[in-house]
Amino acid sequence: MNNILDNCNQFCSGCGLCETVCPVKAIKVNVQEGAYRPAVNESCINCGKCRRICPNLCVEKYSYEEFCYYYWGHSLNPEHRKMAASGGITSELLAYMLNKGYVDYVVTADMYYNDQNGRFNILGSSEIDKIYEYSGSNYCPINIGKAVDIIREKEGICAIVCLPCLARGIKKLCRSDKEIESKVKFIITLLCNHVPTYNATEYIKKKYKVSEPDMIKYRGNGWFGFLRMFKRKKIYVEYFSVPFSKYFATAFSNYFWQRACIQCEDHFGKYSDIAMGDADFVKYREQGENDGETMCFVNNQEMHKILMEMCTEKIIEVSKDFTERELLEIYGSLCDSRRASEKNLQQNYKKILFKEKTYEFLIKTHFIWILLLWRKIINLKIRKV
Ligand SMILES: Cc1cc2nc3c(=O)[nH]c(=O)nc-3n(C[C@H](O)[C@H](O)[C@H](O)COP(=O)(O)OP(=O)(O)OC[C@H]3O[C@@H](n4cnc5c(N)ncnc54)[C@H](O)[C@@H]3O)c2cc1C
Ligand code: SF4
Ligand code: SF4
Ligand code: SF4
Repeated sequence: MNNILDNCNQFCSGCGLCETVCPVKAIKVNVQEGAYRPAVNESCINCGKCRRICPNLCVEKYSYEEFCYYYWGHSLNPEHRKMAASGGITSELLAYMLNKGYVDYVVTADMYYNDQNGRFNILGSSEIDKIYEYSGSNYCPINIGKAVDIIREKEGICAIVCLPCLARGIKKLCRSDKEIESKVKFIITLLCNHVPTYNATEYIKKKYKVSEPDMIKYRGNGWFGFLRMFKRKKIYVEYFSVPFSKYFATAFSNYFWQRACIQCEDHFGKYSDIAMGDADFVKYREQGENDGETMCFVNNQEMHKILMEMCTEKIIEVSKDFTERELLEIYGSLCDSRRASEKNLQQNYKKILFKEKTYEFLIKTHFIWILLLWRKIINLKIRKV
């Protein structure tokens, strides 16, 4: 067999590119156990195109240290900054490139919609307002590879926002498809530790006993922001929110990894023109409130020029005030393969909720015994030393 299906859960991150390149439309990328995975039907002619395009079949390593320029900063529009994932530079950059005609349209992820056809949309847009509306990070699978179909259909050149694995796939596609190469002017990546499966979203819904949302935003409304659920009335109305620390950064929210993300060695974007991340160290450095800072790692001279123009025009503000140590502390761990373990892979949310409830119950009812046991262990350790 020369198609993608062999042991695909081992390496697939659900980017969706294999579906778009199959010459006989034998692949359908669907949600399986909370993540996008390809299914291949009998019409496959074993041409091997899907295997060749898959970004995760050859692991490529890339570190933040290899970028040419580093900055952190934020949008100077307080509302845009507040509603963005970190400092809002990504959305400002997309809007600026459209305004100034650097690109004709941008391809980025729309929000998570709980509709029948799929749980997200891809936005191929030249409408500035839409870009600000859809700012934020989607911590759920998105087979944004489907955007290749939009790029094929549309006239003009674009900038695409994607995760580093898809950027590698797009680059491979550009090498073999001159039409796509001529249309994709900039690749903007979002730094990526891992993408939680949809089971993580299910876990949140069940844990907080919230009804089915029509739409979700996973970041925004401050820094690190909130996961917010909305119901569709005449407009989308927010009915539930939970801070970032309680959904993405707890011991139990760490159980929904895909295997590809553990194996991944390119969390920044080897083939990106600019990679965007959270400048977390600024948050830890400052005592007061801060509505967010974006870290920008730049690899393309024209992109660098655009960023500087945006500073001159007072659309964004950037700084180079960071230490090597701060960068290493925040971004160094992304390259550590021990940051997740096999037991966290694609867990069923019911199992995790049960585990969490059991722990909570044990801690509540056996608090004093756990404390005594803990002290005993510490004493033993001290005596050993
Ligand atoms: C799954 C995931 C994991 C991340 N992990 C880290 C991390 O470990 N460390 C870190 O420093 N940063 C991480 N980031 C990046 C961070 O969350 C912000 O996206 C980044 O700092 C840019 O912030 P911003 O305010 O400039 O973006 P915004 O101005 O809010 O714009 C973000 C843009 O990205 C688009 N977008 C959102 N999600 C996706 C997606 N999944 N695929 C394609 N486009 C998307 C939005 O539509 C919007 O256009 C991650 C992002 C994602 C999506
Ligand atoms: S091997 Fe070729 S025909 Fe078969 S699924 Fe892959 S791309 Fe399609
Ligand atoms: S990573 Fe992308 S190209 Fe590779 S199998 Fe998964 S969906 Fe297909
Ligand atoms: S960690 Fe790597 S493989 Fe996983 S989604 Fe992010 S870029 Fe893709």
